[in-house]
Amino acid sequence: MAQIILFGECMLELTGDGPTYHKSFAGDTYNTAVYLKRCSQKADVCYLTSVGKEPLSTELLTEMEKEQINTSLVQRSDDRHLGLYLVHTALSGERFFSYYRKDSAATQTFNKLTKKIPTPEMFYFSGISIAILDDPQRDALFKLIGSLKTKGTRIVFDTNYRPTLWSDEARARQWTDTAYKAADLVFAGLEDHQLLYHHNSILDVSAYMNDFTISRLVIKNGPGSVTVVANNKSLDVPITAVPSAEVVDTTAAGDSFNGAFIAAEMAGHSLTDTVLFAAQVASKVIKHKGAIVEREIFANWLKESG
Ligand code: ADP
Repeated sequence: MAQIILFGECMLELTGDGPTYHKSFAGDTYNTAVYLKRCSQKADVCYLTSVGKEPLSTELLTEMEKEQINTSLVQRSDDRHLGLYLVHTALSGERFFSYYRKDSAATQTFNKLTKKIPTPEMFYFSGISIAILDDPQRDALFKLIGSLKTKGTRIVFDTNYRPTLWSDEARARQWTDTAYKAADLVFAGLEDHQLLYHHNSILDVSAYMNDFTISRLVIKNGPGSVTVVANNKSLDVPITAVPSAEVVDTTAAGDSFNGAFIAAEMAGHSLTDTVLFAAQVASKVIKHKGAIVEREIFANWLKESG
């Protein structure tokens, strides 16, 4: 059974405008883990993070187990807790996010690493996974990644640039470049590159990435076509845009795309079919509220779509 370790932070997600909120759990790498496992039952999808010992953290572990995610690398902190964020929706439909994650247990994952990390087939992390750590922990993360890479682990990275998590843009660029140097498979969003590197086109992104040894680069561009650069060739895969009236919530579009992409790739599909499947999964996710589509709805849809 292929093992994939994903490192990052899952938070409590509270949606609504009070007095009662809908409670769920989400976070970019966690969302990817969920969709990857749902699309690839045979994979051992293992989540590396730290949570607290309070009841909410225990609830998250129960939820992960329901999603059949391997929790053996989830550490439990004595003095930190789960991060959380609130999603408010204005009358105009615009969503506002308030984060309470600065002191979360996940931000200390590499300060208090007590678990022995096995050598998986794949190690997955994102720009958010790096952003939540301090510099010494970033060094520890990249030391781990370097040692896994020399043992044959495929390193997978999603740019996921979130300006508010970084002290300044230059540092974010420096650490993102460090990730690009280590990565074999990269999921890059054009929007992230516009913000972080001031790139204006897919061509700008692929030209920049030429300086790294990335064997497969996937450039996402919302409803626009997906570009994959591999073996010095560039492939544009047109996708079907969801009409804006049917788009309910784009949270986790990119995360679910990545999970489904990895699952389809592992199943041996062609590059074009892999992109089309990933895009189909993402287009399903954006028609639903929240990051994680209800298990049963998603399973039925997977069954129907063959
Ligand atoms: P990221 O958040 O990672 O930058 P994108 O916003 O580019 O991701 O979206 C990821 C994927 O989700 C896209 O490549 C596409 O497959 C799908 N997607 C996003 N928005 C739409 C849309 N309006 N219609 C159809 N598919 C979409």
